[in-house]
Amino acid sequence: MYVSGVRGSSGAGHRGVVVCALVVLAAAAGCAPGRTACVNSGFPSLVLPAQAPVAVAQAKPPKVPIAGCPKIFSRLDWNATAPDTRRINPMGKITRITIHHAGMGVEEESSIEAVKAELRTIQRSHKGFRHWADIGYHYIIDANGRVWEGRPIKYQGAHAGNSTVNKGNVGIVVMGNFNLQRPTTIQMASLRRLVGYLMQKYRIPVSKVYTHREISARNGLHATECPGKYLQEKVNAMRTRLADAGKPGK
Ligand SMILES: [Zn+2]
Repeated sequence: MYVSGVRGSSGAGHRGVVVCALVVLAAAAGCAPGRTACVNSGFPSLVLPAQAPVAVAQAKPPKVPIAGCPKIFSRLDWNATAPDTRRINPMGKITRITIHHAGMGVEEESSIEAVKAELRTIQRSHKGFRHWADIGYHYIIDANGRVWEGRPIKYQGAHAGNSTVNKGNVGIVVMGNFNLQRPTTIQMASLRRLVGYLMQKYRIPVSKVYTHREISARNGLHATECPGKYLQEKVNAMRTRLADAGKPGK
């Protein structure tokens, strides 16, 4: 949902029935946004073995693909305007994830060009109307299951209620109003893949994958319906699967 908030990068809570917004991927993250293959140079379990041949004159270490990294359309793809870096906070250590819904009208599957235009509209609203430094969320998942880069992950988002709660907190918004509609199968597949990738990359336990209503309650912030009853149910099931996937023998 769109989050009302203080100026700058800290998002304030939703008003009444909350409406969550969009997201951005960080250029600083290993999973480079864009149409190229995801790469990562710092994930310990995927570093090449020591005996792998290394070119003596090589300036940079080889990049190793991360399994499961979703394709992410970059800010360039949707012609995002630059963030206002004069009033944006660094992300800090990433320790948690919060899932939202857009919470506006029912979203239908649409063309890629229509989604790009929608992202630009949301960014204009967040920057111009809410006076935030950029679009509030780090990632956006559209009705077709496409994943889009929102605010660069090196910056704190504006989605969870205030600067304290946004710190180190990756904001993901799923487009749609999930009090009125059910998330599509492909949206949930993309969400599960993105969340699983982020958990792996930043070593986030499933216990720190929240929905907006959960993190609001946990921090004593105002109640919100975000991410809607249908997405909440799906996230509950998704977390069970993600937790099971991390158990030995699975
Ligand atoms: Zn929300």
